[in-house]
Amino acid sequence: LFIDTEIAKGDEIRIDGGQAHYLIAVMRLKPGGAVRLFDDRTGEWRAEAVAIGRRDLTLSATELLRAREAVPDLWLCAAPIKKGRIDWVAEKACELGVDRLVPVLTRRTVIDRLNGERLRTHMIEAAEQCGRTALPALAEPVKLAALLRDWPAERHLFFADETGGAPAMEAMRANRGPAAILIGPEGGFDPQERDAIRALPQAVGISLGPRILRAETAAAAAISLWMAAAGD
Ligand code: SAM
Repeated sequence: LFIDTEIAKGDEIRIDGGQAHYLIAVMRLKPGGAVRLFDDRTGEWRAEAVAIGRRDLTLSATELLRAREAVPDLWLCAAPIKKGRIDWVAEKACELGVDRLVPVLTRRTVIDRLNGERLRTHMIEAAEQCGRTALPALAEPVKLAALLRDWPAERHLFFADETGGAPAMEAMRANRGPAAILIGPEGGFDPQERDAIRALPQAVGISLGPRILRAETAAAAAISLWMAAAGD
């Protein structure tokens, strides 16, 4: 369970809302029962139920089980796509090990409002499910031009380009180190945007095969390939 505050040994932590409902009504936690917590700061903790009410409970942190993990240095820069699909991207990016999700606004981006809280909820649930002790950061949405203008010198940008590029795995093996994957919106990048991305010295155009993938499929495939190439 994710707790949004730094945990220290002996801390008493009050849980309410949906998390309390889950522990009390679904897991049927009893006093003395154990729960695993993570705080995205110190790591994963064993905690014990010390008091259980009808709608809330108190846990005591007893032992640090695992220090916060070191996450592979991969960002996913993706144009927002429709609701259920961007949620899926956030969930899979978290499961597959991405360190940061950066929503990128492009000319053909049709989504003008992004519910960051909802995306974060999906990432928290994915982290709980897959045993991550670190959450991916969720960056503020940024326009493509600004993203490229401020791009960090030492970070590769693997640009998933459905019009063609180097085979992704080979390109990723040949360009190790901090990286990001850039995925376009439903309608793809327009030609000027494509030129601007290609002009960035850190950009490496990659192909994910001859078929045009949906944006969310392209994101999951590219992340998996990068993790495999990096051995993570
Ligand atoms: N219309 C579909 C949709 O609704 O998702 C397809 C969109 S595709 C143009 C979206 C993005 O996925 C592209 O901008 C590109 O970044 C990536 N993509 C899709 N197929 C790809 C491929 N074969 N190779 C590399 N990137 C690909």
